[in-house]
Amino acid sequence: MAEEFSGTAYCVKCKEKRDFTGEVSVNAKGTRMAKGKCPECGTTVTRILGKA
Ligand SMILES: [Zn+2]
Repeated sequence: MAEEFSGTAYCVKCKEKRDFTGEVSVNAKGTRMAKGKCPECGTTVTRILGKA
């Protein structure tokens, strides 16, 4: 089951920080990232959480 993350991420479309809830994933380098959608415009937003 995927870990959930709630917080803020910068939306490139709104050009503002938005609160979002998304799924945490780990890339090949071991960096944890949260991926979700901007609640205002639906654009995918990502936030880098750092090393696991
Ligand atoms: Zn947006």
